[in-house]
Amino acid sequence: MKKLLLIAAAVGLTSVALFSQARGAAQAVVYSGARLIVGDGSVVESSAFLVENGRIASVGAKQRADAFMSRGATRVDLTGKTVMPAMVNVHVHIGYEGYTSWGAENHTPANVLDHLQREAFYGVGATQSVGSSPVEQSLQIQKDQQAGRLPPAARFFFMPGMAPPDGGPDAVLRVATSKLHVINEVSTPEEARAAVQRMAALGIPQVKIWVDDRRGTYPKMTPEVYTAIIDEAHKHRMLVNAHATTLPDQKAVVRAGVDVLVHMVQGDMIDEELVAILKEKRPYWATVIGLGDRPGVCTSDPFFEEALPPSLVASIRATKEARPLAPSCGPPSPNAARREEILAYNFPKMIAAGVRLVLGTDTGIQPGHTFGTGEHVELARWVQLGLSPRDAIIAATSTPAALLGINDMGTVAPGKSADYVVLDANPLEDIHNTRKISSVYLRGEKLDRAALLAKWQHRSTAP
Ligand SMILES: [Zn+2]
Repeated sequence: MKKLLLIAAAVGLTSVALFSQARGAAQAVVYSGARLIVGDGSVVESSAFLVENGRIASVGAKQRADAFMSRGATRVDLTGKTVMPAMVNVHVHIGYEGYTSWGAENHTPANVLDHLQREAFYGVGATQSVGSSPVEQSLQIQKDQQAGRLPPAARFFFMPGMAPPDGGPDAVLRVATSKLHVINEVSTPEEARAAVQRMAALGIPQVKIWVDDRRGTYPKMTPEVYTAIIDEAHKHRMLVNAHATTLPDQKAVVRAGVDVLVHMVQGDMIDEELVAILKEKRPYWATVIGLGDRPGVCTSDPFFEEALPPSLVASIRATKEARPLAPSCGPPSPNAARREEILAYNFPKMIAAGVRLVLGTDTGIQPGHTFGTGEHVELARWVQLGLSPRDAIIAATSTPAALLGINDMGTVAPGKSADYVVLDANPLEDIHNTRKISSVYLRGEKLDRAALLAKWQHRSTAP
């Protein structure tokens, strides 16, 4: 009951005016002295930027700060800090995680908002739920958010999913999505086209398909069906995201024209044939590496546990046996070394083939790899596998913003929404410094991270 009251308070109508997100900060503020990572690869070592009405109005060297001030702005000194754009995550499963339970029963607008707030707390300005969100509820949340009726949080994006009857998501997610009747089950090209047309009529810009047969345990989407989906979607200027995790499936779906691969090839080194197809098609690519890693909460780093119930952290740490699709702090699995070998081979080869790398984490599936922290894990993995921190930040900001069609996010540049993260250390020197968050700004307003943390810590101790 206490939990319900808290949630009610968080989304209650009385808080609307106080928390209006669409409004943006009206006052003009000049932020000066920070190293500015623009998000397009460029850096201003000592910067000044003016924020007005929730937007970046001007950006330049620190020497320009006085010129920006002449508009009657106030000034905030960020000397010693680094500023980067808020991140954009293109692959999460929002709504089901409850941290003390997981499932369809948790999927309420209040819980979706909670997850969006967790993303924002950790520096994520927009996040996309892929194939697992109920359409009507999601459209309503988007409308409420756009109208400024919700407290500050990451912007919410979603896409419907399509699969053969009894196919689709992994065993855990499938139970939850079935209860909410979320997956569009299609057997024929005609059914597939009709489903895409319904989505297009609602103005939905992307769709996910599950092509995987999960090692022969699921019915597989046929080429006839996914070819029809891709064709119909492209007619309506929609993008198609594919869950295809085997080497033959990735070749087939990219060749057939899917726009986004939401996973990497699992269990195989990629080959020259796939490289050639990627070079020609240049799909977007979300890696989802961290989901297969030992959870961050297995270490004593407060970054991973500060927003989680202590009982949850303790139970993950106490779990030593390997459990499919669930967190464990036991010894590495027998195939861990082989997995690293494949990652070290495939990741740079995929990048060299010209895929457009975008941040995607699959967070929301299990509590050991969760909203907000999962993004930082993914960035560190990319850099460990050879990507430069500069390119990792581009792939976490401007490239995914372009994929989602978010014109006013992804860089800290004139005209963009003032959505950025202030860091205490430079992630270009060490990518782990993205975790040293001093503050997060959304639409020019400083996010009240302390209040969010207090809410989560209070909830975690409530009976
Ligand atoms: Zn997923």
